[in-house]
Amino acid sequence: MLNIVLFGPPGAGKGTQSERLIEKYGLTHLSTGDIFRANIKGETELGQLAKSYMDQGHLVPDSVTIDMLRAEVLKSNSSKGYIFDGFPRTNAQATALDDFLASIGTQITLMLALEVEENELKNRLLKRAEVSGRPDDADPAIIENRIAVYNRETAPVKSFYQAQNKLIFIDGIGTIDNITDRLFEAVESRNT
Ligand code: AMP
Repeated sequence: MLNIVLFGPPGAGKGTQSERLIEKYGLTHLSTGDIFRANIKGETELGQLAKSYMDQGHLVPDSVTIDMLRAEVLKSNSSKGYIFDGFPRTNAQATALDDFLASIGTQITLMLALEVEENELKNRLLKRAEVSGRPDDADPAIIENRIAVYNRETAPVKSFYQAQNKLIFIDGIGTIDNITDRLFEAVESRNT
């Protein structure tokens, strides 16, 4: 199996690039943000809970997020592998993911970490707000908060995978096609 963590700050291009990787490698996409938004739309209890955090740019609590992710993996039962987009976002989530994947006989192959500087992220998110309809993209104060949460709680997850020799940095500036090529090259370097 090929199991990829596609990592990066909000606005780095994880969603867009996930689509390219899925198409090329036949992976199953698991975006915790998308799953939460589907629950909000469906007015589920989980959606209601998640919304209160997401609207502020805070993380949804680990226990809720981890349980949901595990259930989604079991439900999808992929044979080729997964692309984890927006998960794990804390070291506790990364540890839980490792334990869970081991329990089903697989593991993370590599983490691809998209790197984009902060001003570019803010511009991209405000631009995305015009089409995404996401309230957390439209408000500069919430964007600031999401980036601060990323720097404080999520960026350390890179060290978690670096310690396992699974981290590859990807320059996230350039055309969408350029960045896709860099990602494919990184996957090929490990997928032998
Ligand atoms: P995203 O679509 O990845 O930008 O996520 C949107 C929002 O969903 C985040 O700002 C968090 O509030 C919540 N969220 C998504 N994934 C996670 C996660 N792995 N852990 C905690 N909260 C998450």
